[in-house]
Amino acid sequence: MESLRFHTVMVSMEASHGTWAVKDGNFRIFEEFAIRSKANVLLNTKVISVSNITEFDSFGNDVHKYAVETEDGIIQVFDEVVLAAPLRFSDIVLSFPAQHYKRDYHTVHVTLVSGHANPNYFGRSDIEKLPVFIVTTGYPLAQNFPDGQAPFETFSVHRILENGETVVKIFSPNKPDEKQLDQLFLNRTWTYYKEWQAFPQLYPVEDMDFPSFILKANEQDEFGIVYPGSFENFVSTMETQTISGKNAARLLHEKWCSKNIHCKKFGDGWGDY
Ligand SMILES: Cc1cc2nc3c(=O)[nH]c(=O)nc-3n(C[C@H](O)[C@H](O)[C@H](O)COP(=O)(O)OP(=O)(O)OC[C@H]3O[C@@H](n4cnc5c(N)ncnc54)[C@H](O)[C@@H]3O)c2cc1C
Repeated sequence: MESLRFHTVMVSMEASHGTWAVKDGNFRIFEEFAIRSKANVLLNTKVISVSNITEFDSFGNDVHKYAVETEDGIIQVFDEVVLAAPLRFSDIVLSFPAQHYKRDYHTVHVTLVSGHANPNYFGRSDIEKLPVFIVTTGYPLAQNFPDGQAPFETFSVHRILENGETVVKIFSPNKPDEKQLDQLFLNRTWTYYKEWQAFPQLYPVEDMDFPSFILKANEQDEFGIVYPGSFENFVSTMETQTISGKNAARLLHEKWCSKNIHCKKFGDGWGDY
């Protein structure tokens, strides 16, 4: 799967309920993966550039490597680089033009509210009768909403607190204003808003080029920077990025284990998940 060429893109609708989370945050799973792999994990260390460099081995042969510079000014040299972040937002300078790999992203506006939802807004007399997951539609069926646009895409109850308030997560096409939130809720004791560059824009066009899984300085190069983030252009989920990560590991395994280096068979106790 070296370069990707698909005629479609995929989205999924997650039901929002029956999902589980790790206490303190799901990021702990991945941090623990990295720590248990005995990797040298450097958190809060921003990479600012990756440069292709050439060194010479003891026989005078060219050896391609990468100089990775971090924000603290430290430069380290590596045999391989796996870039597992969106190129557009990572602010990493590469030593070759990569502008065409930077895709537009879709902005998702997320608002979390703790309070009492307003059943009247949804045409219900009783809050008990309010569905816990409400999804709106778009053009042309949204003409009954003010300005012809639904104020939210999804409105989902995530938790009921001991004091009877609910914690609601709202995805909306724009940042909701106070007036809209006051219409949706009888009272709000906590409101938190965050804007995400959530996933690459999904244009429904045929024959669309996605960034390659291997970013090469020159087309004729045998190998390059491994870019699992490119798979997000086809489908953007945590699960599919795990497959993308596995593909990155497979490509590196194939490259290095074809050089008569003693390697385990791919999948023997690593990569099987
Ligand atoms: C609001 C929202 C809701 C979503 N809901 C779901 C869902 O319900 N289910 C689902 O499966 N997926 C969901 N997704 C998508 C999912 O989060 C992504 O598909 C997934 O996180 C992509 O994983 P990744 O490892 O490729 O990249 P990311 O998770 O984006 O990880 C990239 C990492 O690289 C780091 N980084 C970036 N630049 C640098 C740099 N210069 N130096 C060092 N580190 C850097 C970032 O800090 C980040 O930790 C959602 C996304 C959003 C935004």
